Amino acid sequence: MGAESELSCPTVATIQAGCDWAMAQGLSRLEMQMLTLYALGQNPQNRAWLLAHDTDAMPSSNWSALQSCVRRRLLGEPVAYITGHKEFYGLDLQIDTRVLDPRDDTETLVDWALDLEIGDRETPQRVVDLGTGSGAIALALQHCRPHWQVTAVDFSEGALAVAQANARRLGLGVTFVRGSWLAALQGPFDLIVSNPPYIATADPHLAALCHEPVSALASGSDGMDDIRTIIGQAPSRLCSGGWLMLEHGYDQAAAVRALLTAAGLQDVQSRRDLAGIERCSGGCWRPFLAGAKG
Ligand code: GLN
Repeated sequence: MGAESELSCPTVATIQAGCDWAMAQGLSRLEMQMLTLYALGQNPQNRAWLLAHDTDAMPSSNWSALQSCVRRRLLGEPVAYITGHKEFYGLDLQIDTRVLDPRDDTETLVDWALDLEIGDRETPQRVVDLGTGSGAIALALQHCRPHWQVTAVDFSEGALAVAQANARRLGLGVTFVRGSWLAALQGPFDLIVSNPPYIATADPHLAALCHEPVSALASGSDGMDDIRTIIGQAPSRLCSGGWLMLEHGYDQAAAVRALLTAAGLQDVQSRRDLAGIERCSGGCWRPFLAGAKG
């Protein structure tokens, strides 16, 4: 990507010329399209609009807005913070710096939770999403399974405000609770899901994520402090046959499976994301079969 000082272009004639300029700065085609649409006051997902209006004149105020958006993006700010929106599992979420920018990888966790054969389609399943952030996972599950009783937990008041606003706007009846992982909840739950922070505090990758809340990203020297806490709390909050599923880092699957097994969970397994990386691991709590505690 070009340096900020190289970003000056006094005027462009058409929307297409604005797009070409944004691409030349090093943005990907998709990011260029989303930011151009946003700068033009259009829905950032409506890429067809750009095709239909490429020869339209680029008004100077929109051109200034586009240059400012591109400048912010080149400084590493996620597109979702610039546009204030992110599409997750087909839902339009409002996003700001109080919450993690939801990743496509996390759709793997939602897919797995929806594949679970827990109960029948009529019986409400008790589901909790820990560290909900924008509400992405909880809202996707509630949208796809309206009969589930979905609770979403976060320690951050700011994150809960974002998630609650998303739930209200989308008309989804998720229950919100402030708390540290499962500490404020008794259960029992049929399903516990979480995308907790899992990056090691000294990981150089964190520097590139400086626009996002560090409390949603970093978790101790090996990145697994919160994963250990959740796995420690989960068995006493799961009903027999209930599942715990966690997203984790690209190199943490074996360690998370070992923790799940040591905690007495059964059927411990991992799921790969679209890049083929083991991205989530989980297991089922069957205390009577396991002969384990609880
Ligand atoms: N997947 C994110 C990243 O590595 C991190 C999200 C998280 O810590 N839960 O960029």
